[in-house]
Amino acid sequence: MLVSGCKKIDALLFTHEHSDHTAGLDDIRPFYFKQGDIPVYAHSRVLENLKKRFDYIFETHNKYPGTPTIATHNVENNNPFSFANKTVHPINVMHGDLQVFGYRIDDFAYLTDVKTIEENEILKLSGLKVLVINALREESHKTHFNLEEALDFIKLVAPDRAYLTHISHILGFHDEVQKKLPPNIFLAYDNLEITI
Ligand SMILES: [Zn+2]
Ligand SMILES: [Zn+2]
Repeated sequence: MLVSGCKKIDALLFTHEHSDHTAGLDDIRPFYFKQGDIPVYAHSRVLENLKKRFDYIFETHNKYPGTPTIATHNVENNNPFSFANKTVHPINVMHGDLQVFGYRIDDFAYLTDVKTIEENEILKLSGLKVLVINALREESHKTHFNLEEALDFIKLVAPDRAYLTHISHILGFHDEVQKKLPPNIFLAYDNLEITI
């Protein structure tokens, strides 16, 4: 965030409650100091989980000064919602037995920790310019797409280009893996910025 020079956060969209997707929440503090309550969108189950793990953020009595506050919004109903003149379409996916939300904004969609996805949710992904999708490693995994599953999914959704994310170190070195990918599919990397 510092390297990108980000000055403002319009909203935070949570996919699910696992630590690799939530543990950075405390880092909104400097943005909270500048902007006030940051809007947070998540499934009610995920909001409940955040309340337990970041109880000081949700504290209403004798809140410690300097603790951030967030404005929570429940997206459990899977209906589109809007902020900053953008409409966001939640995409319901399954991470093994755990429900996870991906999100589509205009012609961009971010989906992570996908293992299975129903036909009617795939239909929401038509006409994408950019798809971000998880690809863990070559070997199969119970709750995440492996590389082959991610590439098949990209073929099915047919975005103009796709970025692979949620990559294990055992997938290989960036340049070597990138060489083996089709020309419109890229490995995502830290500090990658996508304009939508
Ligand atoms: Zn997960
Ligand atoms: Zn994860």
